[in-house]
Amino acid sequence: MATNETDRPVLLRNGLVLTMDDAHTVLTGGDVLVVGDRIAEVGVGLTAPDGALEIDASDGIVMPGMIDTHRHMWQTAMRGYGADWTLTQYFVWYYLESGKLFRPEDIYAGNLLAAIEAIDAGVTTTVDWSHGLQTPQHADAAVDALEAVPGRFVLAYGNIQQGPWEWATSPDFRDFVQRRLAGRGDMLGFQMAFDVTGDPAFPERAAFEVARELGVPVTTHAGVWGATNDDGIRLMHENGFMTPGTVYVHAATLTRDSYNRIAATGGSVSVSTESEQSAGQGYPPTWQLRHHGIPVSLSMDTSVWWSGDLFSAMRSTLGADRSREHLEAHGRQETITHCHLRAEQVVEWATRGGSRALGLDDVVGSLTPGRKADVVLIKNDASPVMFPILHPYGHVAFQAQRGDVHSVLVNGRLVKHEHRLVGVDLDGARREVERTVEHLLDSMGRDAFDKGMNPDIPETKVLDNPYTYTEWDAGSAQWKR
Ligand SMILES: [Zn+2]
Repeated sequence: MATNETDRPVLLRNGLVLTMDDAHTVLTGGDVLVVGDRIAEVGVGLTAPDGALEIDASDGIVMPGMIDTHRHMWQTAMRGYGADWTLTQYFVWYYLESGKLFRPEDIYAGNLLAAIEAIDAGVTTTVDWSHGLQTPQHADAAVDALEAVPGRFVLAYGNIQQGPWEWATSPDFRDFVQRRLAGRGDMLGFQMAFDVTGDPAFPERAAFEVARELGVPVTTHAGVWGATNDDGIRLMHENGFMTPGTVYVHAATLTRDSYNRIAATGGSVSVSTESEQSAGQGYPPTWQLRHHGIPVSLSMDTSVWWSGDLFSAMRSTLGADRSREHLEAHGRQETITHCHLRAEQVVEWATRGGSRALGLDDVVGSLTPGRKADVVLIKNDASPVMFPILHPYGHVAFQAQRGDVHSVLVNGRLVKHEHRLVGVDLDGARREVERTVEHLLDSMGRDAFDKGMNPDIPETKVLDNPYTYTEWDAGSAQWKR
């Protein structure tokens, strides 16, 4: 393991380089040179500057850091607890019953672990869709954690315990923005996170007006079955609050009219395929978005159910899109002979899709000289899965996984090297999270804690079978009855 904290240049040497630049240039035996916080050069046979740290990228893939545009990082403190939930159970647990139990230190714990998990998995930019910010102390804790980990983050400020027209207009919120977010540059971005219920009185107007005044993009759960629908989109559009910077999360249960409004105003959709597939917001919408020309980025939503792993996002998104395309065709008695959605496209969504959605496309998203150096090396010499690499994009989407993330740079700093995190206090994060789990257990009591984790299973009706059970008798060569 090495570190370049002293501003030592880093040269990733002799890898298969997926630049994700506009031409999608791919270099075989390529080098990426990082000097300071930027990508200095991308090419073949580059000369290492004096004192450079060389990383052997042979048999590996070098690509831009991945970007997750929607993650409720605070919920990572309860990792896996909701594995068997539906969206209804999630709402009951966080919004109604237990969300209020989270103290500022619990927000800190979840954010800290999620932030570490992100950089470990090669996710160099993460939007923290932080809707557990009940007080300014909670918000401070969220940012404290993001600043304690050397990743690139965007705080999407939210609070499910109040209407957005309440928290967004409060002096506390203004003060927080001034103290913690103003002028933080591209390492800590800022969005406002709230949902639009479709109430014809449109009470969310006040929050949109604050966002407009502050010049901050809004990110909103849109097209979520049973929660948000076309009315919310229509109200946003009719009132002039749909902008190119708006990020619509899920956008799964919407009609063509809403997709047209999103496309016409230049916004993008954050698709959380694993989430949509099991929670029930609606079918993962990429198969629709492609037809409307709506830009896509990828996200994992929350580790209370799923992973924080964008390889998984790419894989599940390819599967869901193709599955839907086949299913729709079979309904018309037709056969799909060629897939529309390609592995290359989901790698683009996991990188450039995110940088464009966040207004960071001239900063990160591709391995282009002059951009900030957020770089991932996928390489695992001990794995039988890392050769042959024939289809580089397919290899990233379907073969690689986060255990294969060998090295990661964020803003030119080496944060993971030879499969080990650099300068990260994982034990400290473990202790923080243990305290949160203990607090939740104590506050809820063991029974409620266990019940929350293990929802009842509805009965499955086993259908009548006209065939009776039989057993083959080898002696008589007949079915026994
Ligand atoms: Zn969400």
